[in-house]
Amino acid sequence: MSPVRPTDLAATGREQLELHERAAAVAASRFGRRVFIRAVVEVSNHCRESCDYCGMRRENRAVTRYRASVESLAELLLEHRPASVTDVMLQSGEDPRAVAEVVLPLLKVLKRETTLGLSVCLGTLDTRVYAELRAAGAEVYLMKFEVPNADRYEFLRAPGSFEERLSHLRHLADTGWSVTSGFIAGLPGASAGESWEAIQLARTLPLAGCSVSPFIPGESTPLHQGPPASLDLTLNCMAALRLARPDWIVPAVSALGLRDNLEGYRRGLRCGANLATINLTPPHWREHYLLYRRDRIIMDEQRILRALEAEGIEPSPIGMVQHLRERHSNAVEAPCLPA
Ligand code: SF4
Repeated sequence: MSPVRPTDLAATGREQLELHERAAAVAASRFGRRVFIRAVVEVSNHCRESCDYCGMRRENRAVTRYRASVESLAELLLEHRPASVTDVMLQSGEDPRAVAEVVLPLLKVLKRETTLGLSVCLGTLDTRVYAELRAAGAEVYLMKFEVPNADRYEFLRAPGSFEERLSHLRHLADTGWSVTSGFIAGLPGASAGESWEAIQLARTLPLAGCSVSPFIPGESTPLHQGPPASLDLTLNCMAALRLARPDWIVPAVSALGLRDNLEGYRRGLRCGANLATINLTPPHWREHYLLYRRDRIIMDEQRILRALEAEGIEPSPIGMVQHLRERHSNAVEAPCLPA
């Protein structure tokens, strides 16, 4: 029997507390009272796509565009990264030039000079480029499916087509990547069952993890007047993801902290999250990485460690990528058990 039900996503009060406690207990039994700590660096805010929910869409002329240099990011990550960081994710709008000129050379430097686990989130690219990124040392690809069906995907002008997105996701998994994905809860026009449908879709995909982000109306986007998603729905989705897949990487996304300072983020840590992300993008570029709004709360090391300490959670000494590597090799080597 499924440990979660569609009605769990609407849980409130005592029922909700029990749901979150159940998810937190599952995460603790699998990972201990620990979360992986990853740093994200937002390499470029150029984007050739125009998703309706994103402030970096190419049609937004109000954004100052930037593309970081390899040298500046190498210095940042080699000399100034926080001690708690075991993993780094290089993230960008869909910008093939940034991939070629910044991400690939930077991955090679990080692979050569550090033991960091390397993840990328760069959008839908050519299969040849995925292979180059993998050869350069990246092991985890984050590619969100955003919404769970083709109609909504097309309506929101998400990148390419829904089928194409899923086929890229499957291609990445088939070619040796650990793939994580995610969806947006509470988008304008979402049906009552959309988040449940997204969780069911995630379960069918070859994923190592899945995130849920609350919809936040972005500046200068077609959805800027839409109401923001309910934090409760987002947290209930997180708990449902954890209960559906105890082994998954389920992040506490920084957008949880956007609406009510750290309390939303801390509640995320209480419903089964096992990954926290420190934003290391240099301050002069951060404000232009407009996934949501310019006044987003930046989850720096101090804020993350404060939230973890308040929740009695420790940074994991083992990196996320190292964990996935070990899990994969155990799965490959483990003998098949009789049914
Ligand atoms: S969500 Fe990603 S692909 Fe879509 S516009 Fe924003 S940065 Fe570009």
